[in-house]
Amino acid sequence: MSDLLSTPIEYLKGIGPRRGEILRKEAGIFTYRDLINYFPFRYVDRSSYQTVSQIPHHQGAVQLKGTLVSVKEVGGPRNKRLEAKFEDGTGRLDLVWFKGIKWIKPNLKTGTKVKVYGRPKKFGLKINIAHPELEFIGEGKDELLGLQAVYHSGEKLQSLGFDSKGFEKIVKQLLPYAKGHINENLPDWIRSEYNLMEREKAFMAIHAPVNFDEAKKAQIRLKFEELFFLQLELLLRKQISQKKIKGHVLPNVGDYFNELYKNHLPFDLTGAQKRVIKEIRKDMSSGLHMNRLLQGDVGSGKTLVAIFSMLIAIGNGYQACLMAPTEILANQHYKTIKKFLEKLGVRVELLTGSKKQSERKPLHAALEAGEIDILVGTHALLEDKVKYANLGIAVIDEQHRFGVAQRSRLWKKNTLPPHVLVMTATPIPRTLALTFYGDLDVSVIDELPPGRKHIQTSHRQESSRLKVFQFIEDEIKKGRQVYIVYPLIQESEKMDYQNLMDGHDAITRRFPLPDYKVSIVHGKMKPEDKDYEMDLFARGVTNILVATTVIEVGVDVPNASVMIIESSEKFGLSQLHQLRGRVGRGGEQSYCILMSGYKLSEDAKTRIQTMCDTNDGFKISEADLKLRGPGDIMGTQQSGILNLKLSDLSRDGQIVTIARDAAMELLQKDPTFKLAEHAKLAQALRQILKSKPNWSRIS
Ligand code: ADP
Ligand code: MG
Repeated sequence: MSDLLSTPIEYLKGIGPRRGEILRKEAGIFTYRDLINYFPFRYVDRSSYQTVSQIPHHQGAVQLKGTLVSVKEVGGPRNKRLEAKFEDGTGRLDLVWFKGIKWIKPNLKTGTKVKVYGRPKKFGLKINIAHPELEFIGEGKDELLGLQAVYHSGEKLQSLGFDSKGFEKIVKQLLPYAKGHINENLPDWIRSEYNLMEREKAFMAIHAPVNFDEAKKAQIRLKFEELFFLQLELLLRKQISQKKIKGHVLPNVGDYFNELYKNHLPFDLTGAQKRVIKEIRKDMSSGLHMNRLLQGDVGSGKTLVAIFSMLIAIGNGYQACLMAPTEILANQHYKTIKKFLEKLGVRVELLTGSKKQSERKPLHAALEAGEIDILVGTHALLEDKVKYANLGIAVIDEQHRFGVAQRSRLWKKNTLPPHVLVMTATPIPRTLALTFYGDLDVSVIDELPPGRKHIQTSHRQESSRLKVFQFIEDEIKKGRQVYIVYPLIQESEKMDYQNLMDGHDAITRRFPLPDYKVSIVHGKMKPEDKDYEMDLFARGVTNILVATTVIEVGVDVPNASVMIIESSEKFGLSQLHQLRGRVGRGGEQSYCILMSGYKLSEDAKTRIQTMCDTNDGFKISEADLKLRGPGDIMGTQQSGILNLKLSDLSRDGQIVTIARDAAMELLQKDPTFKLAEHAKLAQALRQILKSKPNWSRIS
């Protein structure tokens, strides 16, 4: 780009130092370039007039042309408003102002011809428009505006004239100057392959489109560009880390692996598990550093994949660790792993926050001496005192709860980084995976172990409570076990605990001793007590486990076949899916009942409906993305990395995918950006990389 666009914003005609300052501070606009990158977030159609008679059949805002027939103030001092009757030959309506009456009233004269723009509201047969935009139509001055861009603003910006219209004005002032200074940065072949508008034209059109179609095309072009460069960056990072970062060479599968595989597995691995293990084996023997994301739905058997991966390390004389986000989950993993590996003579130890100091010392020493093969734990694994003799692989479960910085602490101590396998709790939509983990290799377990039955999910309200209890009774009689989960929300913790306790009381009354055993587990209990209760349930001693979401992840009791979720409207989709995943782990038909109140928000209805409609975690995560947006799903920490200006990962999934394809094709064609036709692109990329902090997640 030529330098004109680097001109400080205050030099634009009519802006000056004071207004320049507010643009810098409030909108981050320092230069002309920043201003043309200040994109409108929607458009309103001012290209035609509607009539009053059309309003009942019209959606949204209207533009009308007509005459003011009367103007008066009505109401008392507390509810004063200004009403102007407006007529256009097809009907009448009221224009209403509640604020600024003093300024507006003197301008409104009966008989004046006006253009009105606003959102009509119907009250019975009457229609009004509150706080309309109003323009007086003078002699011969009646142009239609076309499509009008709407910009974000704020109070401070408005106070210096930068409301949406103010922005529109300065942008339109800049555009003619900018012409000839906005250079293309995509090669012709990409533009024609994906049918993308020229860059300069796109900037012009996104601010001043002639119609919606053109606005859309301009947006697509600029979103593509944004996502394309991001994908290019991610792919390059991946290439670099694959080429440059050496990893431990683990050439053998090893005896432990073979022994477990051949002699101790109670079932066959699924095809998907086998494929993924093969991918991991290949990585670990390559001499390069593995950095892999393992995706799979709840219950798809990720743990076993982790175990085989760790066995490869151990079989080659290295150690392994597995880090989980909660104590319950760490415990569960510890038990599972021990169960599988005990007979093999692999030494597995557990380290969590609740481990006594006196027990830690010998554990630290044994770890450093290389006597411990697998260390399972929580974030306690990250403490400085925890040193390995030679850590070959780190497995991180349910990763999004760990920050990037936390993870890198795992291997700071090593000279060569261990191989890293990150497992997700629930699937991440492809769009997000490509964007947030575009620099990792991804393995997907897309198959559940055989014999799993679809979990029947239904929605019930208080009026069905007795029937639900009856159903629980029937299932217990068949020998099954039941979870009942209560939400726990921080702000109202007291009340939530009350709900949990009341619920527990009601259930013990309905299911009394000695015929039934009901127990309770929540986060405020001592770890030993929690463990004790979990263990009773796992061994089938307890019939009903009343719990908070402490059981959300990882808990594995195949005989449990009913999951009741109380106040399910308070849970997010991925949480509901995780909870539901606690049942359906054995061969029995399993059920999930979502209890809720009667008053439900639209979002809550959608969540519950989605759960009733599908068991597929990938579909659920897509729905979740639409409801919550990427920032919420991935955590703000990670979403800050991206700073997408225009694209919305919950809506622009298709563009993400084609941008990824284009970036891959480019790197294949011209991996070092040698070709002349890619010179501009390379320059743009360098510019982008220069402006980014180094956020590479893996050392
Ligand atoms: P997740 O992917 O949710 O972590 P787990 O690893 O906890 O799933 O596995 C869920 C359950 O399925 C466990 O009880 C596990 O032993 C069992 N399982 C894993 N792989 C298989 C398989 N290939 N065949 C049958 N059961 C399996
Ligand atoms: Mg798991």
